[in-house]
Amino acid sequence: MKLFDVYPLYDVTPVKAEGAYVWDDKGDKYLDLYGGHGVISIGHTHPSYKAAIETQLSQIGFYSNAIQNPLQLELARKLGELSGCGDEYALFLCSTGAEANENAIKVASFENNKSRIIAFKNGFHGRTSGAVSITDNPKIIAPINAHNPVTILPLNDIECVKKEIARGDVSSVIIEPIQGVGGLDQPTTAFLKELRKVTQENNVCLILDEVQSGYGRSGKFFAHQHHDVKADIIPMAKGMGNGFPVGGVLVHKSIEPWSGMLGTTFGGSHLACAAGIAVLDVMKEEKLMENVSEINTYFKEQVKSLPGLKQVKGLGLMLGLEFDFEVAALRKKLIYDHKIFTGGSSNKKLLRILPPLNVRKSDLEVFIKALKDLL
Ligand code: PLP
Repeated sequence: MKLFDVYPLYDVTPVKAEGAYVWDDKGDKYLDLYGGHGVISIGHTHPSYKAAIETQLSQIGFYSNAIQNPLQLELARKLGELSGCGDEYALFLCSTGAEANENAIKVASFENNKSRIIAFKNGFHGRTSGAVSITDNPKIIAPINAHNPVTILPLNDIECVKKEIARGDVSSVIIEPIQGVGGLDQPTTAFLKELRKVTQENNVCLILDEVQSGYGRSGKFFAHQHHDVKADIIPMAKGMGNGFPVGGVLVHKSIEPWSGMLGTTFGGSHLACAAGIAVLDVMKEEKLMENVSEINTYFKEQVKSLPGLKQVKGLGLMLGLEFDFEVAALRKKLIYDHKIFTGGSSNKKLLRILPPLNVRKSDLEVFIKALKDLL
């Protein structure tokens, strides 16, 4: 049987990984500055992570959400502590970022009994039915998904948002604190604060999509914490399981759950929780958010004189190097000649890097040297 051919593939076959490195089937070693789209948070095959999953697997890997699972409570408690969200939010566990967003817009709509969603230009929220309909990319929206009441507005234009909300039918506003796929643009603090105010005053849920920017990637647990605003609902996923499919939604305590409101077969399984708890434990023990801030400062200083570099976008280790030329050829040379994985975005001049949160200065020195050789 052939695979349904939807992915343009690089010709590399990783078979082994450790920390910030992967090895291919020919034994070549690659520096992984992309972490499989920002998924690898605590580093590939981290010993504590491996041990936690192996131990859990030998006890019980899965049972349904119809039974008690104390691991979910442990995950929620540790997440509350490390994120600073404490008991102000409650956790619903699922398996992917798109699923987290589906649940977020659904909870909002249940809560205020409205249905229109405001999302933003260049935003990306996933590929399932609701999530893709709030994504600003008509090419990936099938006719069946095109009927949701969604309004896409320019980022940072608060007057536009106010005008739409004044119509009275808006259920939620969804926004990425740092755009990932769209190319690392960010809402300003002033915009987010006004957005919080206008949504609160009009019974509209504010959803801050932290699927990519959350879990320490920005240097704070959630990227919106750089702006001192609070969301009603926070979807998250990528870094949560360090590669194990774990997603979740934090729902503010002002929103009441009811039995049967949401559900999933796989979300919050014993294995998923073991992975998620190990990630939180390692983030805390190894002070990974501090490392993110330290490496960010170092990296920005080192790259500033690179030829052709216009700006460094993003926060923490969710960064984009914007050049005055398209980067596709540069990315190819980095991967094939220098054995370094990087990412692209819808901005063709942007080289995206999303390394593991415990990447070291010495790893980035290799990247900077490669860029200096190539530019
Ligand atoms: N939201 C954001 C901000 C994302 O970057 C992504 C994936 O890139 C998603 C949602 C969708 O996540 P998933 O691919 O796990 O469904």
